[in-house]
Amino acid sequence: MICVTLGRTRHSMMVAEHQSLAENGAQLVELRLDWLKRTPELQRLLTERPTPVIVTCRRPEETGKWRGTEEQRRTLLRQAIVLGAEYIDLEVDVADEIPRYGDTKRIISYHNFKETPDNLEQIYEEMEKQDADYLKLATMANDPVDNVRLLALVAEAEIPTIAFCMGEMGVPSRILCGKYGSPWTYATFSNERVLAPGQLSFEEMRDVYHYDEIDEDTRVFGVLGDPVGHSYSPILHNAALRHEGINAVYLPIRVPRDVLISTLQEFDKLGVEGYSVTIPHKEHVLEFTKRHNPPAKDCGAANTLYSDERGKWFATNTDYPAALKALTQALELKNPDSPRLAGKQVLMLGAGGAAKAIGLAVVRSGAGLTIANRSNKRGKELAEVLNCQHTNWENRGSVHADILVNCTPVGMYPNMEETPFAQNWLRDGMLVFDTIYNPENTLLLKEAREHECYTLSGLEMFILQAAEQFDCFVNQPAPIDFMRETLRHAISPVRLN
Ligand code: NAP
Repeated sequence: MICVTLGRTRHSMMVAEHQSLAENGAQLVELRLDWLKRTPELQRLLTERPTPVIVTCRRPEETGKWRGTEEQRRTLLRQAIVLGAEYIDLEVDVADEIPRYGDTKRIISYHNFKETPDNLEQIYEEMEKQDADYLKLATMANDPVDNVRLLALVAEAEIPTIAFCMGEMGVPSRILCGKYGSPWTYATFSNERVLAPGQLSFEEMRDVYHYDEIDEDTRVFGVLGDPVGHSYSPILHNAALRHEGINAVYLPIRVPRDVLISTLQEFDKLGVEGYSVTIPHKEHVLEFTKRHNPPAKDCGAANTLYSDERGKWFATNTDYPAALKALTQALELKNPDSPRLAGKQVLMLGAGGAAKAIGLAVVRSGAGLTIANRSNKRGKELAEVLNCQHTNWENRGSVHADILVNCTPVGMYPNMEETPFAQNWLRDGMLVFDTIYNPENTLLLKEAREHECYTLSGLEMFILQAAEQFDCFVNQPAPIDFMRETLRHAISPVRLN
């Protein structure tokens, strides 16, 4: 079950949003009394309430907004119990002073907004001794491994326990706690109303992660990156898994650069079967396993990690075949009589992970490649590795090319007014491939079309690389057309606004 936390400054808004949540399918709502500007009027909030409620009134030390005295706060909590609220949230240090009464279920809660403390398990043991129907623990994740500790508490609980990490690094445990038996997870009314760090919206929890369908048999996948909040992979993979009727969830896992290997080792306890790997881990991830297939080995980078049928980790690079396939498809459309890359001249902007994979694919196909990179030194180094031409970034406009490939983030959301290649450098009939997929229609591509160039957006490559990952993860072909539609819908301007 998803519990939606509601914090509004006015009673009328709280009541209206509660009603709208109920109409939208919410089954449990947490009313945050501390958010109300005026003295909370419990009768107004609880009479004719459309769903069961948790009544909570947080103190400033737990980042709550309560401005009254502690005595007034406790009186309010007692009143909520007398009025028959289904659940009451009592902080660990006040729970013993507020007696049990009627049918109201007692949630005894512990919050730590700074860290997941070393003595967490000891704190939990103490909480178990209190008079609780439910225990709730929410701690800040400063390391992704903290998720594993909180989920272990849920899994081993004798008293039903809701335990998860806060912060962007804590998102996996907010989603996965249901797999381990948590009675509910918390979500917020909307993305604009995040009441605790890392909270997902009700819609995301329900429609992207399908929290209510997660059970102990749910298989687990995810994307490793830092940052990862902007990634469209969770929307895409979760939709595809569901479309194919596979009981699985795909998580956004924010992992700082220096803790990648320890995270992967600890996350084995969660039974994760596959990962997409993105910035900044694509190279470093090869240290996790010695088993790489040729694209990963040759690129020196992997974007996919999956557990094979023997349960052994395997690294591969699906950017390489995806870029090649997307380029070949575009060349076929441009000129069906001469769709081959071989013999074409390609100018590639950038020398990072994507450029490495695409550059290798281009060179192996027999095309001529010239690299230009903002940092000329890095560009030269990649050109040496790929045994191809290099030109200084400042001279990129003077290279004679049939195909231009942008492997830099210049022009990506939100900097959509930027382009890495001036319009007057474009040549008629050129194929312009922008690997950026958000937005699908970058300024570079718009100007290229004005210039009678052929264009290819990064969307197709993104879909093809994800489709191949899907196949690695679940050993069956991906629903590509459905994935394409899903991604287009997700990055539409309506959503970006
Ligand atoms: P990366 O490893 O961080 O490399 C980034 C590259 O962009 C570097 O060469 C960097 O140059 C250059 N760069 C960054 N900011 C720049 C700026 N303001 N002006 C000029 N050059 C700049 O990243 P990556 O993984 O290669 O990803 C690069 C882009 O490829 C991403 O933005 C993404 O949109 C796209 N991509 C798309 C797909 C897909 O499936 N469609 C897959 C992967 C990547 P320096 O060396 O000078 O820093």
